[in-house]
Amino acid sequence: MNGFSLTQQYASLPERFYAPVDLSPVAAPQLLRLNVPLAKALGLDAAWLASPAGVAMLSGQSMPEGVQPVALAYAGHQFGHFVPRLGDGRALLLGDVTDAAGKTWEIQLKGSGRTPFSRRGDGKAALGPVLREYVLSEAMAALGVPTTRSLAAVRTGEMVLRETPLPGAVLTRVAASHIRVGTFQFFAAREDIAGLRLLADYAIKRHYPDAAQTENPYLTLLEKVIAAQADLVAQWMLIGFIHGVMNTDNMAVSGETIDYGPCAFMEQYDTGTVFSFIDEHGRYAYGNQPNMALWNLTRLAEALLPLLAEDDEAAIALAQTALAQFEPQFQAAYLQGLRAKMGLITVQEGDIALARTLLETMASAQLDFTQTFRAISQPDLHQALTENADALLLPESLVPLAEWLPQWQARLAQEPEITPNARATAMMQTNPCYIPRNHLVEEMIVQAVTENDYSAFENLLAVLANPYTEQPGRERYALPATAAERVRHTFC
Ligand code: AMP
Ligand code: MG
Ligand code: MG
Repeated sequence: MNGFSLTQQYASLPERFYAPVDLSPVAAPQLLRLNVPLAKALGLDAAWLASPAGVAMLSGQSMPEGVQPVALAYAGHQFGHFVPRLGDGRALLLGDVTDAAGKTWEIQLKGSGRTPFSRRGDGKAALGPVLREYVLSEAMAALGVPTTRSLAAVRTGEMVLRETPLPGAVLTRVAASHIRVGTFQFFAAREDIAGLRLLADYAIKRHYPDAAQTENPYLTLLEKVIAAQADLVAQWMLIGFIHGVMNTDNMAVSGETIDYGPCAFMEQYDTGTVFSFIDEHGRYAYGNQPNMALWNLTRLAEALLPLLAEDDEAAIALAQTALAQFEPQFQAAYLQGLRAKMGLITVQEGDIALARTLLETMASAQLDFTQTFRAISQPDLHQALTENADALLLPESLVPLAEWLPQWQARLAQEPEITPNARATAMMQTNPCYIPRNHLVEEMIVQAVTENDYSAFENLLAVLANPYTEQPGRERYALPATAAERVRHTFC
């Protein structure tokens, strides 16, 4: 493809779904990074994107012929409080591209200036959060978690005013769509049932086309979103990801992780872990994420009620039955994931207890979640566990697991069909060596903001692109923060 061509699918919906946006010129856009493999996978012309015309688009300065960017309308519960009109206050939807497999993706700029939904905000983004989202979303993709992607980061050449002036930047985000739970709430709150139905039909066509053939497509849509979110949050829990701001406007019906704000990865296993500075009461703490996902899905179900059945009581009964599926689906996905993290290939009743004991040991010994699972994935350990049942010489990091290991060893012994090496190999594909360590992310941001140096950014991206492969010379990236390095709060 030469240049850039987009279709504008969301803009084919009625005008009350979005607002056209006038561009805000920026002083001196500079491309910091283009995700060339992603551009290629989307069939985009990477050379054009990196050209002055491409950078002008990626910074929201000027659009290719015929592209009218729009800001999407949505509502949302923010920390439990309903706001009937939020919308893209600092994001522009450019349109859609279709990849070689025929799948359609939305391209959005984040931080490109004011929109009709900006309220008192400036519509801009600071460099730090843009780089954090870039690194975190690409790391999540490499870890195999459904997520929006980052196509490009540009510096605007302008300062944005936060507590202090900071360099401004724009992120180009790629998503299956930007339809949120809050998008449904927007129409439901206005009792705009026609709009609600159009939105539901659009979401079905785009994300869950099979639902259209079912007896009650809108109920199927709800069930599919519930299943997708149950799987997604299970995956977050299995890698220690903490979203930080799981408001209903930050939950995509596609089942992708979206809106990376003050997100972070847990280090020591502790279900109460919170990083986000704005999450004072721990509403979105690590261990509360499944509950909050269900809370959000309940808001989605409420919004969809008028479409589920003619009669209110019948609609409520259908919604409740659908919502009751969340917990078992989440538990099944989470437990299956824990089995894989423990290297188990068969299913036994006691597996939940075995996992729970491991997690409780990690919590009481303040062990690093990622490193502990990686340590029990090592081929040497598996060899030793199979060969000499009694005299295990434990590496220091595993000494706190001394009581748990024999229980696990006994359970592994019931699976003689897999060799120690094959098990270790499978575990290393599921227990990452590298996650975006918060202190390294912060260090990268400080270097970019204060020194205009992007080497730490590039290094982090390179390491995190292959999270399951130990990379010689990059041991530091696998280590948790020391007490002095530890990041306690993330800001956005
Ligand atoms: P967030 O917490 O980033 O998901 O944003 C919540 C709402 O605030 C959304 O409607 C955003 O578009 C809006 N918003 C966040 N930051 C800004 C900003 N700098 N300018 C305008 N609107 C913003
Ligand atoms: Mg948001
Ligand atoms: Mg955001």
